[in-house]
Amino acid sequence: MNEKIGFIGSGKMAQAMIKGILSSATFAPKQIKVSAKSDETINKVKEKYSVHATKDNEEVAKWADILFLAVKPDIHNEVIQEIRSVIAEHTIIITVAAGITLDTLESDFGKKIKAVRTMPNTPSFVGEGMSALSINDMVTSDDLEQVLAIFRSFGEVEVVAERLMDSIPAISGSSPAYVYMFIEALADGGVKDGIPREQAYRLAAQAVLGAAKMVLETGMHPGELKDQVCTPGGATIEAVSALELNGFRASVLQAMESCTKKIKKL
Ligand code: NAP
Repeated sequence: MNEKIGFIGSGKMAQAMIKGILSSATFAPKQIKVSAKSDETINKVKEKYSVHATKDNEEVAKWADILFLAVKPDIHNEVIQEIRSVIAEHTIIITVAAGITLDTLESDFGKKIKAVRTMPNTPSFVGEGMSALSINDMVTSDDLEQVLAIFRSFGEVEVVAERLMDSIPAISGSSPAYVYMFIEALADGGVKDGIPREQAYRLAAQAVLGAAKMVLETGMHPGELKDQVCTPGGATIEAVSALELNGFRASVLQAMESCTKKIKKL
């Protein structure tokens, strides 16, 4: 692909996407320009990814055909005010900021723009991202294909109705955090029984990866897959029963509700 991709903000989420994009070799480092606030980040990004990095947001905004806004929601509008006058008509603006709607994006720019609202996640760093996105009516089918190709370069992507976007962080944007907690807990349980710590992480993480692949690749219902592991009268059903008694599923649902409530307030 020949497009030039800009990132305003080069923190954890932007770097996960940059790493994923470059590892897939869909784009070369010279096709990526980024900006950040501190010299520390600029130097780090240059050194790690060999991309052009600057403190000048306007330079990146003017240059990019596809521009990612990857700053925190509280400074999103401030950054837009800085760059809005230099955005070319053909530029596709992609926000990754939680809670920023397509309407807000357009009204902050003060004009009709090609706007894409997305929610990626940090496993994009290893090419296993899960992103969701929605578009406004200025984005053509060719534009959408270009955007999807970028997101596919670092994982999977789903196009969703914008009214569902506030619910995406809870299920895939933020959920890696809860999965890491689950992996950590599994490893702690192993360590408690004497399994060496590093080996315990490998055992736990691969079990989670394998279970996720079973859901994706067999197409079987997660409940059916769970039943396959539970021998009648066996040890696994004892573990399942203890999880249910401690409100495992209810905790997950409640955590997701809290996440979505917070997103709606951002
Ligand atoms: P982060 O690591 O704090 O990164 C924010 C970046 O913005 C930093 O590189 C920072 O520069 C830069 N920045 C701050 N002020 C700036 C300015 N005036 N002009 C240009 N750059 C500026 O945050 P993050 O976790 O990557 O989150 C960024 C966005 O991604 C948020 O809106 C969040 O909702 C969204 N998101 C994050 C995740 C996730 O898992 N982290 C998942 C999905 C979506 P310095 O590094 O120099 O301070």
